[in-house]
Amino acid sequence: MSERRKNVLSWDEYFMGIAKLSAMRSKDPCTQVGSCIVSIDNKILSMGYNGFPIGCADKDFPWGKNGDFFDSKYAYAVHSELNAILNYRGGSLEGTRLYVTLFPCNECAKAIIQAGIKEIVYDSDQYADSDAVKASKRMLDAAKIGYRRHIASGKQIQMEV
Ligand SMILES: [Zn+2]
Repeated sequence: MSERRKNVLSWDEYFMGIAKLSAMRSKDPCTQVGSCIVSIDNKILSMGYNGFPIGCADKDFPWGKNGDFFDSKYAYAVHSELNAILNYRGGSLEGTRLYVTLFPCNECAKAIIQAGIKEIVYDSDQYADSDAVKASKRMLDAAKIGYRRHIASGKQIQMEV
């Protein structure tokens, strides 16, 4: 077989696919977000999805968005980007690229900048008008972290698990 295989996934499709698959692990009933951090030479270093910290069981903590801060997910959930950063125990993330299914909030932007991540590839930017995302872009711009939207090719990936 000398003929090359057609329709091979591009790096962007591959890593965004991993981010989307990671999002499917989230137990948040409203918003599932996934992340994948890769090295300059396209090796996967870490993955994450939004969830509660280790030891904070889903049955004991709230996934609701309303009511008191203490009784809402906002007090407890770790975002996918921060989880991906914290899940990496291999050393430095300097110069890496982050794939994320939703544009990072301001809190994650802080962690992304401080971790040394240099580029963000995102899928959805559905909260672009929120203060959290505006503040995020303000910091990312100042820190010269590049971000670009993933252009979906429309390729369908089907798997049985
Ligand atoms: Zn965040």
